[in-house]
Amino acid sequence: MNGEIISIGHELLMGEIVDTNSSYFAQRLAEAGVAVRWFTSAGDDLGDICEVIERALGRSEVTITSGGLGPTSDDLTREAVARVLGEEMKVDPGLLAWLEGVFKQRGIAMPKTNIKQATLIPSAATVPNPTGTAPGWWVTRGGRHMVLTPGPPREVQRMWEETIGPKLARITGAGVVFTRTLKTYGITEGGIDEMLTDLFGKANPYLGIYARPDGIHLRIISKAPTRAEAEKLAAPLERDIADRLGAAVWGTDDDTPASKVISLLAAQGRTLAVADAATGG
Ligand code: ATP
Ligand code: MG
Repeated sequence: MNGEIISIGHELLMGEIVDTNSSYFAQRLAEAGVAVRWFTSAGDDLGDICEVIERALGRSEVTITSGGLGPTSDDLTREAVARVLGEEMKVDPGLLAWLEGVFKQRGIAMPKTNIKQATLIPSAATVPNPTGTAPGWWVTRGGRHMVLTPGPPREVQRMWEETIGPKLARITGAGVVFTRTLKTYGITEGGIDEMLTDLFGKANPYLGIYARPDGIHLRIISKAPTRAEAEKLAAPLERDIADRLGAAVWGTDDDTPASKVISLLAAQGRTLAVADAATGG
């Protein structure tokens, strides 16, 4: 599936904030099996937002937007989507009850302007936002998906992890890929193969073995709808390998022999001095 990322907000175009939401989405969408082809940004202008929304719906199977879901009059992403689709925004009683509850919990009266955060259009379902007042929209039209999220990265990331990522992975059938590399030294490739023979040849989690300059690497690859589930799937295999190979496993993932030596020294409160002499620089 091809994808598009839209960020919305005047501050982005003024260079006042860096668009970290788009790079976050780009990584997550790739993991979820969506090939991102376009990044677009627009300011808080209804006409401009409508233009980028309309183009995205015309060319992208999956579009994800961030920003402009706040309560104020310059938060216009919902309005733009409703206008492009020719649908009417209506207050959803369930969403309104939830929103009123959020304000009650915070001990403040809900301003009238916030009511628009409880609206939906017929083509949209709610994407829960457990840490903010702006729920997302999941819009489906003619087999295409457009997901609206708010601006604050903390809210966006939680919504991705809990709802958007897993749902997209189900739609694309891709799932999230998790890898863990165990680095060994002191046992030959053939020796390891013999010790772990019953662990090879499975699909998920998959186990690969590779000879590298710093020893033999074992690579676990697992796939699941969410990262947490994929990690959970890999964990028992990792423990099993660590038990069988014992001290031969000297590191994981990005560890290097040098980084391990440094961290072992640091743990003992020792330092390392390096002197260079007689090489002529
Ligand atoms: P709010 O309810 O907070 O108003 P909103 O959905 O209306 O949310 P914006 O007003 O567009 O979102 O943005 C709120 C804040 O989120 C911004 O001030 C900024 O700090 C952050 N933000 C917005 N867009 C991005 C982005 N693309 N990348 C990183 N941070 C962003
Ligand atoms: Mg706002």
